[in-house]
Amino acid sequence: MFKKILVANRGEIALRIQRACRELGVKAVMVYSEADREAKYVKLAEEAVCIGPAPSPQSYLNMPAIISAAEVTDAEAIHPGYGFLSENADFAERVEKSGFQFIGPTPESIRIMGDKVSAKQAMIKAGVPCVPGSEGELPDDPVVIRRTAKAVGYPVIIKAAGGGGGRGMRVVHTEAALINAVQMTKAEAGAAFGNPAVYMEKFLQNPRHIEIQILCDKHKNGVYLGERDCSMQRRHQKVIEEAPAPGIPRKLIEKIGERCVAACKKIGYRGAGTFEFLYEDGEFYFIEMNTRVQVEHPVTELISGVDIVKTQIMVAAGEKLPFAQRDVTLRGHAIECRVNAEDAYKFVPSPGRITMWHAPGGPGVRVDSHVYTNYFVPPNYDSMIGKIIVHGDTREQALARMRTALLETVVEGINTNIPLHRELMVDAKFMAGGTNIHYLEEWLSRHKR
Ligand code: ADP
Repeated sequence: MFKKILVANRGEIALRIQRACRELGVKAVMVYSEADREAKYVKLAEEAVCIGPAPSPQSYLNMPAIISAAEVTDAEAIHPGYGFLSENADFAERVEKSGFQFIGPTPESIRIMGDKVSAKQAMIKAGVPCVPGSEGELPDDPVVIRRTAKAVGYPVIIKAAGGGGGRGMRVVHTEAALINAVQMTKAEAGAAFGNPAVYMEKFLQNPRHIEIQILCDKHKNGVYLGERDCSMQRRHQKVIEEAPAPGIPRKLIEKIGERCVAACKKIGYRGAGTFEFLYEDGEFYFIEMNTRVQVEHPVTELISGVDIVKTQIMVAAGEKLPFAQRDVTLRGHAIECRVNAEDAYKFVPSPGRITMWHAPGGPGVRVDSHVYTNYFVPPNYDSMIGKIIVHGDTREQALARMRTALLETVVEGINTNIPLHRELMVDAKFMAGGTNIHYLEEWLSRHKR
């Protein structure tokens, strides 16, 4: 096991990794920008290094600063968390070339999965079902593009190979709009992602977002830890996640989970990863893979009893996965609400000083957050300030626990989306389970205020 690792992130995930390190008896070096100097996890760290001013390009995205922080503190490995540099293949490569272990997959795996065209091709080869569409990148020839769309069937969606964060996508309903849409998406993709390549998929009308969590070691062992339902989204950003996914037969999950593990073995994947699928009419369609720990990993931890972050560190250190697929048993139901510093209905960010923070508790309640009373939410980063996660024997019990937890939560001084979560936890359709990816947006447009 490592003696010391460097945590190249901030906020709740930095704290989450720090906690995993303490449990493992591994020293954690925390890095911070000038805006995060006062954070408690920085103050309580055995070692902490300032890596630059508040803007993330100069701190949390500053590769030389992070690598030299690892050098001066004698860390052996770097955990990238999520966001920032976590899916940057060049960073992973620089980390390893500098003699540190990157806590994540190889740079090659990150590179393949970071390009959605090559990711899809790898998945097709590995037998993972994908959304029907073009075979790889779309060519320039309008005749071929039209022929492809006709074969796929309208509506289609044009997506940037290098896209991410819900950007670089365009839905096309008619042949008349096709060529123009392809050209526009190409131009935008070139400007935004430095890669003009686009591809085509059938646009699924009412899918759910279902994803499979996997964990692999360096010894060709891999497991899946069931699925998560992340269909409650706004602007392709997840707001509520849960596990298991309501109403999907276990047999189907097992089949797709086994495919994902087989694909990982085929591509020599190591570490934690997530296969994201759209699910419609009993079929799974791969859309992308995330090669890092995800925000919503706690719902899987609560139903599986597996500590995903600790396991990431253990397998990065070369240890074997401490369990096999047959040892994985899922129990009960878990729900996560992301707590954002923003207006609950207008979504305007609300940074500033938290004058009162009272976190909920009780049986089956977990709060992953780095904030506290008198914490200042800096305006420079993502608006998510924490997560409330609950576990119950049944989905009904989990919902009841979440309602209580949200009722107990007090945040003053800034706006949060807690009022929105309180409403959604008593919404009849959400309570019934199985809402699709458009449900939250439709709900919001019905509840305009
Ligand atoms: P990103 O990397 O930007 O998150 P994804 O490929 O994961 O892009 O897609 C993000 C979201 O866009 C999906 O969760 C879904 O809501 C929508 N989407 C993507 N592809 C399709 C498709 N073929 N049909 C319908 N919706 C899609």
